[in-house]
Formats: sequence, C-alpha cells, structure tokens
Amino acid sequence: MICIYCQKEFDPSKYRRTKQRACGDPDCQKKRQRDNLTAWQGRNPLYYRIKRMDPVWRGKARQRAKRWRTAHRDRIQAYRTATMDQYRIYMREYMRRYRAALRERQKPASDPLTKGQS
Ligand SMILES: [Zn+2]
Repeated sequence: MICIYCQKEFDPSKYRRTKQRACGDPDCQKKRQRDNLTAWQGRNPLYYRIKRMDPVWRGKARQRAKRWRTAHRDRIQAYRTATMDQYRIYMREYMRRYRAALRERQKPASDPLTKGQS
C-alpha cells in the first residue's frame, strides 16, 4: 500500500486493510486528521453555527476554553514566543486599522450628510 501523503510503501493495519490510505508516520497522521476534519466540516457547515446559538453550549465552551488556557499556560507562552514575529506584524497591522477607524469616527462634521443641517 502507498501512503497518499508521503507516497511511501507501508503495511496497512490488519483491521483497516482495505480502507487505510495513510501510513503511521506522525506527519501523515496529522495531515490525515486535518483532511478528515476539513471534509467533515464541509459535510456539516452549519454544525457549530447552530451550536453557538445555544447560550448553554456557548457558556460551557467558554468555561472549557478558560480551563484549558489556565491548565496550559506554558504551551500558550511557548506558542507566543515561537510566533512572536508574526504576532508583532499582526498587532502592527491591527493597530493601524484600529487607529484609522478611530480617525474616521472622530472626523469633524464636514461630510455631505451633516453639512447644512443646523
Ligand atoms: Zn506517509
């Protein structure tokens, strides 16, 4: 059997002899999981949109995310350190857009809509 990701020969599991298309390499397994998830989301595009409308589910999801963040502070810190350059670029762009929007809002009343209304 040839792996669809690395094109290398592999022995399929005896339980998945006809269905297995990816080898056991962690990289290939990661790609397989990501592709399966993408395919599932394609088949169920409204799943999380509908779930998010449920306030109970949203509250639980928020709690779960908060618990994870508190329990894995080290992983978040490691990720932040590893991606600091991208984060700086992102924040610079974000602040540039934010300040532009702020300037737009604080513009003196000189636009045609408000002119001559007093
Ligand atoms: Zn592979």
